[in-house]
Amino acid sequence: MNNPATMRSKTIAIIGGGPAGLMAADILSARGFQVSLYERKPSVGRKLLMAGRGGLNLTHSEDIELFIQKYGDRAGILESIIHAFPPSALRAWCEELGEKTFIGSSGRIFPENFKASPLLRAWTARMEKQGVHFMPNYEWQGWAQDHLTFKTSDGTTTIKADAVLLALGGASWPRLGSDGLWVSLLEKEGVTVAPLQPSNCGFCVHWSSVFLEKFAGHPLKGITICLESTKAYGEIMITAKGVEGGAIYALSSLIREEINKKYSATIHLDLKPDINLDSLKERLQKPRGRKSFSNYLRGALNLPPVAIGLLMELPERTMLRDYSAHKLASLIKKYPLTLQGPFPIDRAISTAGGAAFESVNEDLMLLNKPGVFLAGEMLDWEAPTGGYLLQATIATGAHAARGIIKWLENPEKELSHPLS
Ligand SMILES: Cc1cc2nc3c(=O)[nH]c(=O)nc-3n(C[C@H](O)[C@H](O)[C@H](O)COP(=O)(O)OP(=O)(O)OC[C@H]3O[C@@H](n4cnc5c(N)ncnc54)[C@H](O)[C@@H]3O)c2cc1C
Repeated sequence: MNNPATMRSKTIAIIGGGPAGLMAADILSARGFQVSLYERKPSVGRKLLMAGRGGLNLTHSEDIELFIQKYGDRAGILESIIHAFPPSALRAWCEELGEKTFIGSSGRIFPENFKASPLLRAWTARMEKQGVHFMPNYEWQGWAQDHLTFKTSDGTTTIKADAVLLALGGASWPRLGSDGLWVSLLEKEGVTVAPLQPSNCGFCVHWSSVFLEKFAGHPLKGITICLESTKAYGEIMITAKGVEGGAIYALSSLIREEINKKYSATIHLDLKPDINLDSLKERLQKPRGRKSFSNYLRGALNLPPVAIGLLMELPERTMLRDYSAHKLASLIKKYPLTLQGPFPIDRAISTAGGAAFESVNEDLMLLNKPGVFLAGEMLDWEAPTGGYLLQATIATGAHAARGIIKWLENPEKELSHPLS
């Protein structure tokens, strides 16, 4: 069974041409397997290219233990997978493809040219040389007995492979190819799937029309937001429907879960995080003279108009001018903002939920469908932005590829326990 020629004759079907599927195809084709990569879109890597528009934050340089904690309650499951393909391996992979990487001031890692397209071109060219058959416009539709069924421009076709990797992505930005339609196909096979939900997303706020007219599209920079004891520093963007931006994304899983439980979530904004409460109070004790309340706040605290606009959104706005310095300073340090619900998943950066880790073994193979492996964002994990998404996506692709090799070497091996 381990004869190299026999092994090389094994066929592997990878479905989904995102970074998870591509990484698996790269590793398996480099080992000489017959790899076909099926993709429903006319070309692969569309979401990766979209990530490139934002500079392509590949991974993060922080200490690996802190890094792994970013996966929250999936940290324990992903730990060994990420240790086996850590941020240093991701950087090495990128550099092997001719794209140097660097660590930005925030610790995030990017390719030097901030683009995905040269990387994707070099990656697919290498795979073509290694013999990967790219099969664009093949939409997987499930199984017919032990065959995979695809819809193509020429009608339906079925394929049999010795091993299969599903790397079908989540459900955000469906026009790029991942729409979560695989959920019902896997559930039909008895796979448990946690509901797909938006992650790294914006949230709805009922703004007044006066506020919207002035401030939709304006950023609120250098603030801290807080939900219970969890804080994030950064920027939020005011939009017609609510708020989005880095600081909101950083807390998005907590906010979403709070809304799931209580139908809304109140976060607190520190509109002046660089000044402590006492100094703020002191500044607010200065006489106001004949200035309007807004001009006074702008002068005394250098508050931007959008922050003053937020104060004017409060039901008690007409009474603010009579607040004591302490009460006003406390409000500026702890401004309550109620969020009603997440923006739709099709605008989210990533997806929470997915195929449950209880359904796969430690090699990411489905327990009730031996020979079928899963990788990438379709698995049930989530993480904030900062490079953690691509890191886990690519690391699970590499892990599933190693699992496929083990399985093809020894398909009779007893299935081990669920991963979770
Ligand atoms: C705007 C934006 C910016 C981002 N920026 C970053 C960033 O800077 N850093 C970061 O770490 N992450 C970023 N991400 C997230 C990152 O791009 C994803 O986590 C990653 O692409 C997931 O990879 P994947 O291979 O699991 O799935 P995908 O990239 O979604 O690929 C899945 C593929 O499967 C195909 N497919 C789906 N169903 C079928 C089917 N039935 N048959 C055949 N093919 C099918 C899809 O067409 C798609 O090509 C960003 C995402 C977005 C939307």
